[in-house]
Amino acid sequence: GFRLGIVGLPNVGKSTLFNALTKTMKAQAANYPFCTIEPNVGVVEVPDERLYKLAEIEKSQKITPTFIEFVDIAGLVKGASKGEGLGNQFLSHIREVDAVAMVLRAFEDENIVHVEGSVDPVRDKEIVEIELIAKDLESVNRRIEKVQKVAKGGDKKAREEMEHLNALKEILENLEPIRKYADKLPPETLEYAKKTLFLLTVKPVMYIANISEKDLPEGEGNPHVERIKEMANQENAPVVVISAELEAQLAGLSEEEQKEMLEAYGLKEPGLNKVIRTGYRLLDLITFFTAGEREARAWTVKRGTKAPQAAGKIHSDMERGFIAAEVISYEDLIKAGSWAKAKEQGLIRLEGKDYEIQDGDVVYFRFNV
Ligand code: GDP
Repeated sequence: GFRLGIVGLPNVGKSTLFNALTKTMKAQAANYPFCTIEPNVGVVEVPDERLYKLAEIEKSQKITPTFIEFVDIAGLVKGASKGEGLGNQFLSHIREVDAVAMVLRAFEDENIVHVEGSVDPVRDKEIVEIELIAKDLESVNRRIEKVQKVAKGGDKKAREEMEHLNALKEILENLEPIRKYADKLPPETLEYAKKTLFLLTVKPVMYIANISEKDLPEGEGNPHVERIKEMANQENAPVVVISAELEAQLAGLSEEEQKEMLEAYGLKEPGLNKVIRTGYRLLDLITFFTAGEREARAWTVKRGTKAPQAAGKIHSDMERGFIAAEVISYEDLIKAGSWAKAKEQGLIRLEGKDYEIQDGDVVYFRFNV
């Protein structure tokens, strides 16, 4: 699955948000197709109306949505990269996530201590970022120590690696995250940062502005939210405004009660849905569907995934034995009324191994066993 890591300073509302996620997960447990998950991982449905419509027209007996995983990454404090607080423990968790959701405190409450003495989300963001940069710089320097000697000996591979390392080091020494240079770095260097060094600051980031309930729905007029948006805008990062406390309350309610409460606060949907959708976009993910009488199911892949690799999400045999994909867009299938009718009307396309799966595709894979 795809993983979003929740980070932030202490007392900004991470656990509150994570508890909301966990409660939601428990409510959805019946749909969850996997068995075990770790205690710091929350697995939540990607909300998608289309799946339920498909199940309806195909009279599917079972509905299986697709899920996104949230990892609670506690222990990030000033000095964490040097071993303060829980120290390095959090880092191994961040390495495992595909993107980072940074929770920033934008609520005032005298009863809740702020570790830095005042509410200032942009400063908080910088503290967290500096810790991640420091850690990345440490990884780069440690690698340089190893590779340098070999490179001096004339080894071509080692010399190439040194080029990557020096480019990354320069950015980090200027106290900037690698992701800021994603478009400017050679693609090989970026790949190296991601896949070989597992750097932290190369991961895409979204910001979650945690406001108090009274500032809902949008946090308009809350100066902290304004500043977060300004900061995020400069780095082209998305911002989601939520109230973690309200989310935690919502998660414990029945659907009907949820609706009432959302309405009372002028909200169209739970903030969690916004977080999930934004995470989806941040990771450049799309959803395709399989639908039949037995089951209607949603699947997540990266945009640009080819048909055989998409089939491999379902079963590795289907990728290995891939022959072709029968495909129709969700909209066309709904218009036709059912897969059988679409087939009669010749609306189902046959696509080969180079076909790029599109968001909303409904697919039937043909494969050799
Ligand atoms: P964490 O350390 O980042 O995980 O923070 P917690 O989720 O434990 O929250 C710290 C404290 O802030 C708790 O007492 C929460 O109830 C409180 N808190 C979280 N969100 C809000 C909020 O939106 N408004 C107010 N007033 N308190 C909040």
